[in-house]
Amino acid sequence: MSDKNILQTEITYLKGVGPNRAKLLQQELNLYTYQDLLELYPRRYVDRTNNIKIKDIQEDGKSVVVIGKIIHTETIDNGKRKRFVAYLDDGTGVAELVWFQGLKWIEKYFTLGEEVAAFGKPAIYGNRLSFTHPDIDKLSGNDAADLPKILPVYPSTEKLRAAGLDPRGIRRLTYQLLLQLHQQQYVFEETLSESILQDKKLMPKHKAMYKIHFPRSFEELNAAKYRLKFEEFFYFQLQLAIKQGINKETHKGFVIPKNGNLFTEYTAKHLPFELTNAQKRVLQEIEQDMSSGIQMNRLVQGDVGSGKTMVAFLAMLNVIDAGYQCTMMAPTEILAEQHFRNISGYAQKIGINVALLTGSTKKKQREQLLQALKLNMIHILIGTHALLEDDVRFYKLGLAVIDEQHRFGVMQRAKLWKKNSEENKPVEVYPHVLVMTATPIPRSLALTLYGDLDVSIIDELPKNRKPIKTAIRTDKDKVKIYEFIRQQIKEGRQAYFVYPLVEQSEKLDLQAVTEGYQQIQALFPEYKVGLLHGKMHPAEKDDVMTKFKLNVFQILVATTVIEVGVDVPNASIMVIEHAERFGLAQLHQLRGRVGRGEYQSYCILMTSYQLSADGKKRLQTMEETNDGFKISDVDLEMRGPGEIFGTRQSGLPDFKIANIAQDSTILQEARKIAFFIVEKDPHLRLNEHSVLLQNYQKIIQEKTEISRVG
Ligand code: ADP
Ligand code: MG
Repeated sequence: MSDKNILQTEITYLKGVGPNRAKLLQQELNLYTYQDLLELYPRRYVDRTNNIKIKDIQEDGKSVVVIGKIIHTETIDNGKRKRFVAYLDDGTGVAELVWFQGLKWIEKYFTLGEEVAAFGKPAIYGNRLSFTHPDIDKLSGNDAADLPKILPVYPSTEKLRAAGLDPRGIRRLTYQLLLQLHQQQYVFEETLSESILQDKKLMPKHKAMYKIHFPRSFEELNAAKYRLKFEEFFYFQLQLAIKQGINKETHKGFVIPKNGNLFTEYTAKHLPFELTNAQKRVLQEIEQDMSSGIQMNRLVQGDVGSGKTMVAFLAMLNVIDAGYQCTMMAPTEILAEQHFRNISGYAQKIGINVALLTGSTKKKQREQLLQALKLNMIHILIGTHALLEDDVRFYKLGLAVIDEQHRFGVMQRAKLWKKNSEENKPVEVYPHVLVMTATPIPRSLALTLYGDLDVSIIDELPKNRKPIKTAIRTDKDKVKIYEFIRQQIKEGRQAYFVYPLVEQSEKLDLQAVTEGYQQIQALFPEYKVGLLHGKMHPAEKDDVMTKFKLNVFQILVATTVIEVGVDVPNASIMVIEHAERFGLAQLHQLRGRVGRGEYQSYCILMTSYQLSADGKKRLQTMEETNDGFKISDVDLEMRGPGEIFGTRQSGLPDFKIANIAQDSTILQEARKIAFFIVEKDPHLRLNEHSVLLQNYQKIIQEKTEISRVG
């Protein structure tokens, strides 16, 4: 076997593994080769250079490591909860390690007299110190793998533990493998270029692969971590940069001159408000893109209420002036209808034709509409997914706007490019694409999710806005709350009541909101109350929304169908029932339905008395801030990107060591360098980039292999 592919050796050949364990490692941790094992990075480290003594421990909510010998174990079954206790003595005192679950396994796990490290949050009862379900690392043994002062702790699973591969077992394998490679004088190939290593003062790959597992000091460890995270992010961003570069080279765009007649007339005479500076800036960025001759692929990120719709409309005017059509796709019918209403309102001032196409457009009307579209009689077509149907053909589509992109896949974005009827489809020239999203994506994630798009940010709300006041309340406050709502309605305002999904059942969901509706009607007999939920017929929904908008209904009881985009500036109060059941991003979106006009607005988060610690923190975050960026950062920290976006569908990569939520600074540095390099050398042809090209190609190749298998 040549040096080069020793890392591709199947793990079964490693001393101490064999076919059975190899199979388990495959099934449980996806480890097939030596390389896979080495890239199974420790999830934490036991610091034996500086562990705390039992006598010094205080209960302050922090996790600690204690190290000592197991002096006694027992299973206690006194009629209450059966439990297993191991007593750990470190020479200064004794700690009780307690298990209520997994007793069968843990009862057999310890040998008296052996040295272990226990990691967990201590609790103190009188003079007893106890850890419930601590993480345990066995330390003693003559195995060299157990000697380092900073001890790596690897992930393991129940099945692996049963086969002797607990974190210590895996540590021994990794140690064994690194030792073997060292004896064979194997050198890990450097994967970054000399200049990046020097610029960023990064630890060389070879050293990092040893130090990430067995560091001598935390300095070494941090340097190794930094290096490996940087590398992961760098290659991810490099792929995005190259993709973007290729798009720019091959995707020509229609040339849309700036400041056309329609635009000038509309902004001079009909603009209903002054644009914020952020809106102006973003509009300029869009105009710049669209006049450049290259296809625009731009993301406009702006918090709820920041005024993205007007920016999109103004961008459309220049496109129409240049003789092209525009389309705008929204994720729900309600939102599409609302955009249609708003944009028609703006458009009629200057004689532009706007049409709406959704799943519930009648067949005959649809036929007429498609006919008109092909003849260039419709300037702006607004709709839902229904726009993507094959028979929807434009005369000359110049700009596609997609609202709330995270609900559409990347494929759908691409599909919109191909919508021009054959005779008017210039070869290799594409309509511009503008993607709009309300913030709750932290910048670090936006860079990752939408990394192949240029990003514009509207980071300013219109001047007339007052920050929404948010409060957490429980049932006992209800009387006061209703009084307050009455007061608001008397002053001319309107209110929302929002009911959450109940369990995962649409039926129960409907029941909750319908019951809520009846209650609210009974509570406010003097006012008209509307009901809106997902199961209603689109025409009915539209009717209810219109009536709420016109203040025929003073109160709207709804499910989260109103989450996205609904715009009724006169509504100043929102009550969210069972707020603890919502995600943070969702609460933020919901709350964005109020505070859209000049009135002081309020959001009341109703919740049960008993909240989990996480639940409390989430709701408190809502009380503390209106800033979508901050909220999404907290969300990301608490739940992780996978849970928020779903790794697969979002196209988020599975990073092995880097963490988008925690390492966003490294991500941004890696991105800067990757994009800088690609701008200078789009195809990585320069000699100094040969290492990068080689690794990039390897990654692309692995990717295609995986997608062929999966
Ligand atoms: P979002 O960015 O959430 O899509 P919208 O485009 O729906 O926001 O705008 C929210 C509300 O603010 C709308 O009623 C819109 O007419 C209004 N608006 C937009 N821009 C401004 C501005 N510069 N000044 C005042 N009101 C504005
Ligand atoms: Mg919007």
